[in-house]
Amino acid sequence: MILLFALLAGLEEQTILRTLDAHFTGDYLLYDSQSKRTAGSRGFDAGTAVAIGSLIKPFTTIAYGDGHQFQYPEFTCMGKDCWLPRGHGKVRITEAIGHSCNAYFLSMAARMNPADVADVLAKLGVARPKTDVPQQTLTGMGAAWKFLPQQVAAAYAELVLRASQPGMREAVAGMRVAAKAGTARPLGVFTLAKTGTAPCPRDAGDGFAMALFPADSPRYALLVRVHNSTGGRTATMLAPALHRIRNGK
Ligand SMILES: [Zn+2]
Repeated sequence: MILLFALLAGLEEQTILRTLDAHFTGDYLLYDSQSKRTAGSRGFDAGTAVAIGSLIKPFTTIAYGDGHQFQYPEFTCMGKDCWLPRGHGKVRITEAIGHSCNAYFLSMAARMNPADVADVLAKLGVARPKTDVPQQTLTGMGAAWKFLPQQVAAAYAELVLRASQPGMREAVAGMRVAAKAGTARPLGVFTLAKTGTAPCPRDAGDGFAMALFPADSPRYALLVRVHNSTGGRTATMLAPALHRIRNGK
């Protein structure tokens, strides 16, 4: 019986990888949270750390909660210091993650120490980054922090496994908003998701998307990257492959 399950899981994994190869042109890394290993990847160099932009925000969320009794602020984004010129209006933590509001996270980061986020990352298995970095690093701006792709995917997988814990709960709720109505909405409610845009020395920027699926009990953590793009555009490019994966083909 166990062998049968392993066989079925292997088939499912192969189907996902084939679908990504055929229907997505960007780089990807598929992490299996059950066997705790990378099931397959294309385009990422396993030993090269990368800047991940706003993919840091869920970890910043957890660190802020840890230091503030899990009481998150409300903030009105008028567009200043944010990527959305018209502003996000009044946002709470889940919308701030879902819509990746930089102004919200900058205001939170002003009351934080980078070491607190580094601690959260370390607890989730990510090599502890240096802590003498600008405050905006905690919002995903700049490239002071770089991480190994598999460690990012594994940390997200661990985060959603712990979704019942305070801080993790808000981070996961924000990823649900992102997939349903936010920056990752092309991916839809089959996933918990987050997007990020990181500086790239070679072009305008790297668009990242992190998608965990199926949303109710995520087995897979899929990290993708498209050069010369944004996180939002990358989610749009990934959507056709993910819809096929959802439909099992
Ligand atoms: Zn905003």
